[in-house]
Amino acid sequence: MKRRPFGTTGFDVAAIGQGTWPVPDRDALRHGIDLGMTHIDTAELYGDGRSEEIVGEAIAPYPRESLFVVSKVMPSNATRIGVARACERSLRRLGIDYLDCYLLHWRGAVALDETMHGLEDLVRDGKIRSLGVSNFDPWDLREAAAALEQERIACNQVLYNLGERTPEAYELPWARASGAALVAYTPLARPKNAGGEELLAEVAARHRVTPEAVALAFLVRDPIAFAIPKAASMRHVEANVAAGSLQLEDAELAAIDAAFPARARTGPLPMN
Ligand code: NAP
Repeated sequence: MKRRPFGTTGFDVAAIGQGTWPVPDRDALRHGIDLGMTHIDTAELYGDGRSEEIVGEAIAPYPRESLFVVSKVMPSNATRIGVARACERSLRRLGIDYLDCYLLHWRGAVALDETMHGLEDLVRDGKIRSLGVSNFDPWDLREAAAALEQERIACNQVLYNLGERTPEAYELPWARASGAALVAYTPLARPKNAGGEELLAEVAARHRVTPEAVALAFLVRDPIAFAIPKAASMRHVEANVAAGSLQLEDAELAAIDAAFPARARTGPLPMN
């Protein structure tokens, strides 16, 4: 499994992690961890806290420092004091005493500087090791970054897959310029065009992996990118792990690029 710096946090993190929405399967998560997918993404929103509880059960036998656990606060809880309370609840459900990264799930009504200061308080108090955002367009990113006094934005988690490649034109350049990671959520969605399917199948056969692994490897071809597929099936877990060591050739990358072209974005960053 390829590991790479997670923004400028100084942490080396598995390029392919594990999603947990709406709720994960405990044993599939453990299988993924055993195979190197130690980067786990959850949120207080998922299953109304149940996802964090199952992640907590899954990770309990593993040394804490071997994992990179990410959770997210809902915008409705993102006041300065609300962030601290939400984080405590997440830590309790997860059964751990710090998060590796804590994200604002999407921008809501609370002023960004209040949320960012709340997240900085948590870094200072040792409750989280880094902070980030999700579903942020470049103008929100600039505002959030400007509000921070001590910390930097470690990542922006966005909808990014073969059917939604506009983050390459907007959020990826921002991340590169700012020393942040770009994390692809819902990374396995793709438009099913016959030519594209044939190409993915052909590349997959050449590397003895699945078309989904090829799609994931394409998304993390940039060394600042990560992907967090969710899989309850053991077969899917193993297919996703394979993406973490798959090196696509330049010609293969170019062919996938042409078969699943990025369209121009007409509005804000789409989200799930
Ligand atoms: P996804 O990971 O793209 O797709 C999940 C689906 O793909 C499941 O039905 C899964 O089936 C299937 N699958 C997994 N691996 C496969 C493989 N190798 N081959 C074929 N099918 C495979 O979608 P997602 O769950 O929406 O996104 C991933 C994670 O991103 C979420 O779980 C969540 O942690 C995060 N997320 C974040 C946001 C946000 O706003 N920040 C929004 C959405 C999602 P099985 O489960 O049956 O194996």
